[in-house]
Amino acid sequence: MVQSKDIQQYVEQHADELLTLVKTLCAIPAPSHHEEKRAAFCKEWWEAAGAKNVYVDEAKNAVFPLCDSGRDIVLFMAHTDTVFPDTQPMPLREQDGKLFCPGIGDDTVNVATLLLASRYLLECGKQPKTDIVFVANSCEEGLGNLKGCRAIMETYGARVKEVISFDLDLKSVYTKAVGSARYKIKIRTKGGHSWSDFGNGNAISEAALLIKALYEQALPKESGCKTTYNVGMISGGTSVNTIAQYAEFLYEYRSDSSACMEQMKENLNSILDTFQERGVQIEREELGVRPGMGVCKDCERQEALIRRAENCIKSVTGKAPKRLAGSTDCNIPFSYGIPSVCFGLATMGGTHTREEYIETDSVRLGLEVALLFVSEYA
Ligand SMILES: [Zn+2]
Repeated sequence: MVQSKDIQQYVEQHADELLTLVKTLCAIPAPSHHEEKRAAFCKEWWEAAGAKNVYVDEAKNAVFPLCDSGRDIVLFMAHTDTVFPDTQPMPLREQDGKLFCPGIGDDTVNVATLLLASRYLLECGKQPKTDIVFVANSCEEGLGNLKGCRAIMETYGARVKEVISFDLDLKSVYTKAVGSARYKIKIRTKGGHSWSDFGNGNAISEAALLIKALYEQALPKESGCKTTYNVGMISGGTSVNTIAQYAEFLYEYRSDSSACMEQMKENLNSILDTFQERGVQIEREELGVRPGMGVCKDCERQEALIRRAENCIKSVTGKAPKRLAGSTDCNIPFSYGIPSVCFGLATMGGTHTREEYIETDSVRLGLEVALLFVSEYA
């Protein structure tokens, strides 16, 4: 076990480097499915640090197997993709002790900290207690549908015995998966000229009515569970004087209970049926389903993993993090029953907005938490 004094010293020596690395990564655009530049950067960074056998897989995960000797694997990950579609570097500014840039908290700062933590173990030069693989993974956000995590779980299969995802902030530990289902709903009607065909079915007004019906549905009432829904994007129509023939919108629902997920699916079915019975042509395209909790394969190890995360965070920040349910890369290992935990390594705000920021000083704390955590495997 590494002395915490050594870790603090290491943090002091490398905090500036970490901030520079965060800024460098921020300047590399990485919308979901287009993480190739960040993946290439991480691969080069690892190789420059002396890492061997680093590779980028087909899912655009950059992978550094620190130790891959056929034993059980502990997987550390942080996702490179951001929710923003921008393919040009996004603006970064510093103000009042905060560093602003879209995607900086979710999850760029955690990718940078993962890189430094992996190099720390590499520099220790000791044979770890278990096999360890670090992954700067793709496709966590939105319609990326956890592609990167699914791919890496497939690569290492049953050898994966623990998964730690560095994501979101330092105040929470995600210990449960929130399942989600996402759809594109396509509406087609007769349409026509706004004057001469007035009265024909209008896809936009049908979409509006359909969205209204979705927002009036009764939520499942299972106690202790949370269920939500959202319409996040809408488009359609042809021109101001055209009765729209086509409209579409994106709809998702989420729940931490698989029974509630089922009920939300039934609600959607019955609402769509009602519209179809009136002659509205509706097509539902499934964009992604994130699984919820499976049956845990090793409950003791699961609880021990969560405790370790909580203890590391508390010992550094002085505050115990909150246990939460969330939709993260851990949904995949959770669904297999593999002990997993997700927590972040900075304090932040404005997540998923253009005003997203991290508190600049918090990256030191995050680095210390990460080093404490990974050193328990060394
Ligand atoms: Zn994230």
